[in-house]
Amino acid sequence: MVKKPTASGGVPKYENHPMRRKEKEITDHTEMENILRRGEICRLAMAENDIPYVVAVNYGYADNALYIHSAPEGKKIDMLRRNNRVCFQVDTDVAVINTDSVHNCNTRYKSIIGYGTASIITDDTGKIAGLDVLMTQYQSDGQEYPQTLLDRMVIIKIDIESMTGKQSLE
Ligand SMILES: Cc1cc2nc3c(=O)[nH]c(=O)nc-3n(C[C@H](O)[C@H](O)[C@H](O)COP(=O)(O)OP(=O)(O)OC[C@H]3O[C@@H](n4cnc5c(N)ncnc54)[C@H](O)[C@@H]3O)c2cc1C
Repeated sequence: MVKKPTASGGVPKYENHPMRRKEKEITDHTEMENILRRGEICRLAMAENDIPYVVAVNYGYADNALYIHSAPEGKKIDMLRRNNRVCFQVDTDVAVINTDSVHNCNTRYKSIIGYGTASIITDDTGKIAGLDVLMTQYQSDGQEYPQTLLDRMVIIKIDIESMTGKQSLE
């Protein structure tokens, strides 16, 4: 059973630090999901032997999970096979504003940081389902996937265990 992510607090696996700027916190789960549905790039963080590694990837969001397409080998896949616990970050609506004044210069954004576990999907049915989620995210669903494409990729599924949302609208 997939656990529904929670806002700050109530997260069993990861210790959540309270958000310093409470007024910027997004606590509404539906709003967080909307950000994940609208985002295009996910920064996926992994760790091994106390050394972090982060990669930017495209992704699709559905049913409390992120779906990422990837080559079947490489550093990221090697790391995930050894430690499947990940952190990710997605942002939308980013704008750097008032750049002419050091006093008012700011960045608007909506952002999600989440934790989860990665599984690597290697069967064709699972890969097609993952690609469908990805292509829907990019408004290009109804695609056919040639076997040659399926053969040279895997899908990384991130089951989200907790997430927090933050926005700066100033
Ligand atoms: C906007 C964006 C979207 C992307 N979307 C996807 C995606 O959907 N799926 C996907 O698999 N990849 C995507 N990539 C590429 C991704 O960031 C990685 O380069 C790729 O996944 C290979 O990672 P790896 O760990 O297997 O690298 P490897 O090929 O194993 O290489 C590891 C080495 O190369 C360096 N390296 C790897 N990637 C990068 C990088 N991006 N920038 C600088 N140095 C790097 C590492 O520091 C390390 O030293 C995207 C990149 C960008 C910028």
